[in-house]
Amino acid sequence: MKIIDNVFVVPGVVANPYLILDEDGLTVIDTGLPRSEKKILAYVASLGKGSQDVKRIIITHADLDHFGGLAALQAATGARTYASRTEADAIAQGKSSREINPSGFSLRRVLFTLMRPFMKATPVQIDEILAEGDTLPVLGGLHVVETPGHTPGHISLFASSAKVLFCGDSMVSAQNSLQGSRPGITWDETRARESERKQASLGATIVCSGHGSVVMDASGKFPV
Ligand SMILES: [Zn+2]
Repeated sequence: MKIIDNVFVVPGVVANPYLILDEDGLTVIDTGLPRSEKKILAYVASLGKGSQDVKRIIITHADLDHFGGLAALQAATGARTYASRTEADAIAQGKSSREINPSGFSLRRVLFTLMRPFMKATPVQIDEILAEGDTLPVLGGLHVVETPGHTPGHISLFASSAKVLFCGDSMVSAQNSLQGSRPGITWDETRARESERKQASLGATIVCSGHGSVVMDASGKFPV
């Protein structure tokens, strides 16, 4: 589904993968659960592109629903892969970058306990380590914004000219507004709130989060 010119979200995948089209090819942000690569590549084909046109794959954080499709998508495309140091270390082990112990009785805890044995993905050696201030030649300049909280090394990506923010799970879209990283699956609540404030100050008008629909006219819809 087209968001704005040259920016798309692949439908029907748990944890939204985003595609950005530039003259030199495609950049993918997050890759969904294992086996999501098929849907991503089908969407690439629907744009009239081939797997070899995928040049970069950026992972916001090392949760299974964001890097589960990475190994297969990288193998199919030969794309270079990008993540922060902390998340890259976890991806190299095929696991999350933080332990989660949801407290209290909740549906989320029950599901998490049931899911835990399946929460491994094929390990990938990340090619390029991203950190605050790095800028990729994507969509006129895609800036790396460190947004720890949901995980220790979570990053967001901000395209300043288009004012589009890709926020991973640092914020969640619900009812056309943004909420903070969900309690129970947040590594550090204090840092999560700081990262929400940081992102609210960027001047983004469109926010593309890992879950839920894209938030348009985003100013005033941040959780802080
Ligand atoms: Zn997620």
